[in-house]
Amino acid sequence: MTSAVAGGLRLSDPAGNAVTIPPAAVARLWTAVADDRKALSLYGLGEPGDLAFALESTADDAPAVSVGGVLRYLLDIDDNALLRLCTAPGCLNESTGSSTLTRVCFDHLDTVAPGLLPNAGDDILPGDREDAARESRAMRLNAWESELRDAERHVAGELRVLESLRNDS
Ligand SMILES: [Zn+2]
Repeated sequence: MTSAVAGGLRLSDPAGNAVTIPPAAVARLWTAVADDRKALSLYGLGEPGDLAFALESTADDAPAVSVGGVLRYLLDIDDNALLRLCTAPGCLNESTGSSTLTRVCFDHLDTVAPGLLPNAGDDILPGDREDAARESRAMRLNAWESELRDAERHVAGELRVLESLRNDS
């Protein structure tokens, strides 16, 4: 991965389409993976340099890359932008937030969160799935709200700093 930053990262999708991700986009991806690994406590994934990067698709020259089989990103090469994608396999929608619970798009808010249903082999009673989906949605909306409130507090703090700088001059 370190050498990839210098020369770009060459990836192929299962259909054989190959793309070279330029160094600036690789650096952006690298930073996002490091941040997300921390935010999502994915330390079991390994160090960012050891992770497997897989090309999912290259539609519209915007490669979708999955990392460690968990994190998914869409790279906009022309604008050097990066979108965090919903964790539902194959979904190209942007995730609502950046935590474990909010890493889904609006369409996948009902995806049952880990641990809300019994393990495979145990009995799942009628209505359990629907209850788990409802509970997952409520948990996700609460988590998203707290992310937005955090961002709001952060901006309010910066505005106070800005105001004090204005008053200093
Ligand atoms: Zn989705």
